[in-house]
Amino acid sequence: MIDSARLHLPEFMPGTVWLVGAGPGDPGLLSALALHALDHADSVVYDALVDPRILELARPGAARESAGKRGGRPSPSQPDISARLIRLAQVGQRVLRLKGGDPCVFGRGGEEALALAEAQIPFRIVPGITAGIGGLAYAGIPVTHRDIASAVTFLTGHERGGALPKGIDWAAIARGSPVIVLYMGLTHLARIAARLIASGRSPQEPVAIVSKATTPVQRVLVSTLAKAAPDAAAARIEAPTIIVIGEVVRLRATLDWLGPGET
Ligand code: SAH
Repeated sequence: MIDSARLHLPEFMPGTVWLVGAGPGDPGLLSALALHALDHADSVVYDALVDPRILELARPGAARESAGKRGGRPSPSQPDISARLIRLAQVGQRVLRLKGGDPCVFGRGGEEALALAEAQIPFRIVPGITAGIGGLAYAGIPVTHRDIASAVTFLTGHERGGALPKGIDWAAIARGSPVIVLYMGLTHLARIAARLIASGRSPQEPVAIVSKATTPVQRVLVSTLAKAAPDAAAARIEAPTIIVIGEVVRLRATLDWLGPGET
């Protein structure tokens, strides 16, 4: 697929694991290292969020295994996934652990890397384009912008078990972060918005919800902090969604280079 020698890419050694970010969806956002890994892997262990068009790029002889929910069956636990990666590497495979976006942004890449380190399996981390940056770019929203936004916070909207994350200082974020990017935020959006408003953010502040960012079915809903949750429900916005709160959303009116998909 690519000229690995000209790009000076390292050899994918048998018995090693590459933890690779596949980006938010568009195969064009894969890195050269990710393509190289797809070209050479013996096993590809992928998450539910990895775009099917990207899986098709795997070497025809490669075994593909889902580590996400499949056919209604519950997803394997994190220790099970780590154990599986270790096992495959121990039998001498080139193991490609493929994750949506960036493996280390709300992707448990760190947990898997720790397990590999503990088992003394050599590994490499290949960053990917995270939904909270690349997905917004595909909606014409720069995640920072001079004079408008000099700080950005990436937040998860729910933690293990699905509850609103505890230990987040909403008042500090409301005060200190002009741009807030929410991963997994749709379920608790109404509560998160209420907390930010209670901490001083304007109910009129613009919010964009980008569904299935960078895929052919990307949709973008622009609303306000007060109305975003009910608007998303009314528009039947589907997961996965990346949500951005902040004045940068207004730039989309001029910078939406991709076109249709607006809800
Ligand atoms: N490691 C991933 C994030 C995994 S958490 C990354 O760096 O992007 C899963 C969350 O990521 C989803 O709930 C959603 O909030 C966001 N996400 C991932 N891919 C997305 C996409 N194509 N469109 C919108 N949101 C996406």
